[in-house]
Amino acid sequence: MSFELPLVPYATHSSISRGRRVSESPPSTRTEFQRDRDRIIHSTAFRRLEYKTQVFVNHEGDLFRTRLTHSIEVAQIARSVARNLRLNEDLAEAISLAHDLGHTPFGHAGQEALNACMKRFGGFEHNLQSLRVVDELEEHYGAFDGLNLMFETREGILKHCSLENAKKLGDIGARFIYKKQPTLEAQIANLADEIAYNNHDIDDGLRSGLLTLAQLDQLDFFARHHREVEAIYPNITGRRIIHETIRRMINALVVDLIGASQARIQDARLKTVDDVRNASALMTFSDEMREEALVLKRFLRENLYQHYQVNRMTSKARRIITEMFNAFINEPALLPPDYQVRSKDPLDSVQLQARKVSDYIAGMTDRYAMREHRRLFEVGEI
Ligand code: MG
Repeated sequence: MSFELPLVPYATHSSISRGRRVSESPPSTRTEFQRDRDRIIHSTAFRRLEYKTQVFVNHEGDLFRTRLTHSIEVAQIARSVARNLRLNEDLAEAISLAHDLGHTPFGHAGQEALNACMKRFGGFEHNLQSLRVVDELEEHYGAFDGLNLMFETREGILKHCSLENAKKLGDIGARFIYKKQPTLEAQIANLADEIAYNNHDIDDGLRSGLLTLAQLDQLDFFARHHREVEAIYPNITGRRIIHETIRRMINALVVDLIGASQARIQDARLKTVDDVRNASALMTFSDEMREEALVLKRFLRENLYQHYQVNRMTSKARRIITEMFNAFINEPALLPPDYQVRSKDPLDSVQLQARKVSDYIAGMTDRYAMREHRRLFEVGEI
């Protein structure tokens, strides 16, 4: 019995998948990629996303996006796009829900700090860490470490990767070496991520008061939709104007992405997923929309991500991560027993210990990291 909707021939069908690392009998009530999605939702790392920063630290407000709500928004957008193109919606959803599982506490500030700490030990990349979470770190099943996901789900999770790391990863890293594309579903999840954060960061930026409508009106893309909303609903105010504007922006990006990609896919005359892998990136915005998205991104970087109030949290986050890392590396006995290395080989054990410290820190939620930092450094805190 097949649970898959009719898909185009170059969609990633479960039947042509490269499969799981440890073979398992096929599921009887769902597709293989639905099983992957379900495993991701039931994982511990997924629940941790609720308390990890997107831009605003979790305690700064109840209504800001967290990594969890961000991931759900990405999945929503990715599913819409995949379904419209008759690609595998389940795979696009699974990749989207898992794409940020390896993120450190405190968003990009945390990732940069941990990467700097790990420089001597092979570095830290959040995409690679997401793969590490689903391949090794989750402890859920008797027969294997991790979630034992399908190759294409894992491939989609590993969005970027340095060449050096790609060489160590075997089949999953090969596409970075041979410069091949991942499945269209993976390409969709990647662009859905961008659509989601560009738009919700505007919403959160306005909600926090760090961005103003007047500032955003300098952006052509925002202003156009804002004016349209005012013309249709001259009497609405406040949050309704913002939501009506942002939903139009998301819609414009999604419609453009579907249309531009559809045209490219037709030109490429695809027959199989292998044709997708050998082609250039086929999921794409139109040139005009890509330019607008770039301007939006630049605007957010300059006005929100580098706002002095965000910088203050970024700076604290860097200090918390760096100080914890140094304390644990210099004195591994401070770590919970599961994260202490007891190897006999001194060279290996230093590397291994650093990787375990990095796993421990990367797994922390924002508030756990703050509490752990206090427990390490404040006398009287237990
Ligand atoms: Mg993301």
